[in-house]
Amino acid sequence: MILILKPHINSKTKEFHQLESHLARLENIELRVHQVQGVEQTLTEVYLIGNTAALSVEDMRSLPGVDHVVRVSEEYRILGRHKDDNRSAYFDYQGVRFGQDTLNVFAGLCAVDSPESVEAMMKALCDNGQVCTRMGAYKPRTSPYSFQGHGKNCLPYVFELAGKYGIKVIAMEITHESHIDEIREALDKTGKQTGVMLQIGTRNTQNFELLKSVGRQQEFPVLLKRGFGITLDESLNAAEYLASEGNQKVIFGLRGMKTNGGDPHRNFVDFAHVSVVKRLTRMPVCIDPSHSVGSRSRGPEGILDIMHATAQGVIAGANMILVDFHPEPTKALVDGPQALLLDELPQFLEDVQIARDAYQQRLSRFQIYSGKNN
Ligand code: PEP
Ligand code: MN
Repeated sequence: MILILKPHINSKTKEFHQLESHLARLENIELRVHQVQGVEQTLTEVYLIGNTAALSVEDMRSLPGVDHVVRVSEEYRILGRHKDDNRSAYFDYQGVRFGQDTLNVFAGLCAVDSPESVEAMMKALCDNGQVCTRMGAYKPRTSPYSFQGHGKNCLPYVFELAGKYGIKVIAMEITHESHIDEIREALDKTGKQTGVMLQIGTRNTQNFELLKSVGRQQEFPVLLKRGFGITLDESLNAAEYLASEGNQKVIFGLRGMKTNGGDPHRNFVDFAHVSVVKRLTRMPVCIDPSHSVGSRSRGPEGILDIMHATAQGVIAGANMILVDFHPEPTKALVDGPQALLLDELPQFLEDVQIARDAYQQRLSRFQIYSGKNN
């Protein structure tokens, strides 16, 4: 059960202490207090964990300082959607809104290789009105002999160039908690010209200690990729780890599943789950067509499979697209074969817009139909 307190109440106020002493009398109930940084205000939420079935929502609502009460099911207590749950399904970061109604494109390099590639990428994004990108500095690789990413050494020029080209948010995978400090330090040293969304890759979806470390900080939002060989429920619980440690700014990423059933694509595209994740949770949903499809194959009409997969996710209501581009894919150190070319960026964005318009049109048609049926 979650008690959402009135806006002016926090752990330092008198009402909070009165509430605490009421709650202390409840048997077998543990309390966890969270500060939720909203767009206009910070709200305090008290989670009651344990035997809450016996508690009445009305009784809890009448306690000092309580604004409203959400009875949560066992699943995804914090990030889940529950009955009569009017908590928001969006957050703002660096002036950019991420929600279940918005769409943001993160086109960029799978792996940072040189300042020249980074600059060419960022310039193309800027020329096309984009303010978000992806830049891999820490790469989890199948072989220990493959390029592992430039790590913290590339951060200063990546962040400087982001500032130069007006990039506000960079999605960047981390594979160890120490990378959070390295990123924070580099952002500070380069004058905080941009922001970072920490990415947890599919190989680390159930790295619980990493999830806890990333969840404990609230400075950076998180993109959590679905685990490629586990159930959706297991991946959603992984997201809940982040929230249970205090960070609710979480985006859930679909990136295809590892099964030969998807051949010849690299992974089996799972974008039909966009609406499933939106129904079960309040998280915005990202699609990654590059790591799903994994090649530049085209349909007989000439359209890239990556663009078809993107359109499928967007027409179903996806909120973020993570997609690999490279100025010279043959020279890319990671995942060159699936990278789109910089001169394909305008066409890609246009195709995304067509699918987004179609989604919006479907939404409004559906509202007309459901109005008629009610
Ligand atoms: C990536 O986005 O660079 C990546 C490695 O993705 P995933 O974790 O989905 O394989
Ligand atoms: Mn990759």
